[in-house]
Amino acid sequence: MTAVSQKKPVVCTRCRRDLNSTAYEMLLNATRAPHCLRCALAFRPMLKRSLAVSLIVGTVLTAINQGNFLFSSNFQIAMAWKIPLTYAVPFMVTTVGGLLNARTVNADPVDPTG
Ligand SMILES: [Zn+2]
Repeated sequence: MTAVSQKKPVVCTRCRRDLNSTAYEMLLNATRAPHCLRCALAFRPMLKRSLAVSLIVGTVLTAINQGNFLFSSNFQIAMAWKIPLTYAVPFMVTTVGGLLNARTVNADPVDPTG
């Protein structure tokens, strides 16, 4: 009779998808809940935080980089595409950073006996 360890499968808290290799542990009700990538990308608290960082950092960067165009009468419409991009970059950086920080690998430990 051999003792076989039954590992409890990790499933996504939101969609119940089996997370066989990678999970994203998002803080939910003071506990870390595993999510799949799709559900982690739609995790509202993370998106709210990314949006707040984007508003703060994007406003500062816009003021630094485009302030002279915004506050002068020489505003060129060709420069308008840079402003949304200036807000999008800190949003993406914060979101990717949050995902990488929450990422865990559910790999089976290597059996040292072979
Ligand atoms: Zn999911």
